Amino acid sequence: MNTFAEILKSIDGGGTLTSDDLKVLLSLTNKTQMQDLFEKAYEIKTDNVGKVVYFRGIIELSNICEKDCYYCGIRKSNKSQERYMMEEEEILKASEWAFQNNYGSIVLQSGEVTSRTFTSFIEKLIKKIRKLSDGKLGITLSLGEQTKDTYRRWLQAGAHRYLLRIESSNEKLYRKLHPGDHVYSVRLKCLEYLKKLGYQVGTGVMIGLPFQTIDDLVNDILFFKKIDADMIGMGPYVVHKETPLADSLPDFDSIKNYQLNLSLKMIAATRIYLKDVNIASTTALQSLNPTGREMGLLAGANIIMPNITETKYRASYQLYDNKPCLDENSSMCRSCLEKRISSIGETIGYGEWGDSRHFKKKK
Ligand code: SAH
Repeated sequence: MNTFAEILKSIDGGGTLTSDDLKVLLSLTNKTQMQDLFEKAYEIKTDNVGKVVYFRGIIELSNICEKDCYYCGIRKSNKSQERYMMEEEEILKASEWAFQNNYGSIVLQSGEVTSRTFTSFIEKLIKKIRKLSDGKLGITLSLGEQTKDTYRRWLQAGAHRYLLRIESSNEKLYRKLHPGDHVYSVRLKCLEYLKKLGYQVGTGVMIGLPFQTIDDLVNDILFFKKIDADMIGMGPYVVHKETPLADSLPDFDSIKNYQLNLSLKMIAATRIYLKDVNIASTTALQSLNPTGREMGLLAGANIIMPNITETKYRASYQLYDNKPCLDENSSMCRSCLEKRISSIGETIGYGEWGDSRHFKKKK
C-alpha cells in the first residue's frame, strides 16, 4: 500500500488513484495530513472547475412521502411530522425570487410521491418556471424514484438535471437502511433511465452511516465513476431522533466531528478522483459545524444549494436534526452565503447555469 506522501506525489504526476489509495485518504486522522489532502483537492478543483461557486436555490415543496427510509425525518411513519404541500403560487414566487436574484438554477425537492396528480402538477410547474424566467433559470429535480415516462415528461417540460442519491452503493447496507419494498435495483434502474433520457445526473451517499465501513465509501467513489455521474451530492448522515436508525447511534453528539471530517475527506477524495464533476457542499455539513459548508468548498466542492423555501415551511422539512437556517428567509440566506463565500476568496457564478463540465465534455 502506498503511503500518503506517495499518493500525493502520484496525484501531482497525473496518476490515477487505486482503491487502496482512496482507502488511505479516507482513513487519514492526522490533522496536518487531512489539511494537506483538502489543499490538494482544492488545487484539483481550481484547475478543473475554477474558484466559482454556483447557486441552486432549493425549494422543499412538500414533505409528503410514500417512502419509509429508516434514517429520514419525513418518512411516512413519522406521525409527529405535520405534512404540507406548497401551493403552486408559492413555488412560482420562490422561483421568481431566485430568478430576480440571479441564481442560475433552482432545485425542486420533496418527499417521494408518484400519483398522477403530483407528476402532472410538477410537469405544469416546470413549464411555468421556464416561462417566467424566459428559459433562463436552470431546473434541477430531486423528487425520488419515478417511472421512465414521468422522467421523460419532466425533461420535455424543461428540467435538465436530476439528483437521486444511491444512499449507499453497497446493496446489503442499502437493505439495512430501508424497508423490504425499497429496492436497490430499482434505484439503479432509475439512475439508468435518467442518464439515457439525457438528464445531467447527480447521485451521492450518506457518509458515516451505522454499519458503513471505509471500504463501502471507497466503493461509493468507484460507483460514481462507474455510472459516470455528472454531479455529486453527498453529506454526513445526521441522526433524526424520530427515526428507527437513531437507536444505532445513541450518542451522536460525540461523533459529530468524526462525521464532519469523514465527509470532508469524501469530498476531497471524490474531487481528486473524478476531477471535473460538480460537487455540492451540502447543508448537512453546516448542521455539524457553523462553517461546515465553507469547509466543503475548501475541500473540493463547488456548488451550494441555498434554501429559498418559504420560512413557514422550513421547520416541517427536517430530514435530520439540527438543520440550520430554519428561521431565516431567502434574502438572509443569500447575504449570509455571500459573506461566507467571499471570506474564503471565492466568487459566486450569478446568472449562470454552471453546468457540470464533465457533462459538457461528453456532449
Ligand atoms: N425524496 C427524494 C429527495 C428528498 S431526500 C429522494 O429520495 O431522492 C434528500 C436526501 O436527504 C436523501 O437522498 C438522503 O440522502 C438525505 N437524508 C435523508 N435523511 C437524512 C439524514 N438523517 N441524514 C443525512 N441525510 C439525510
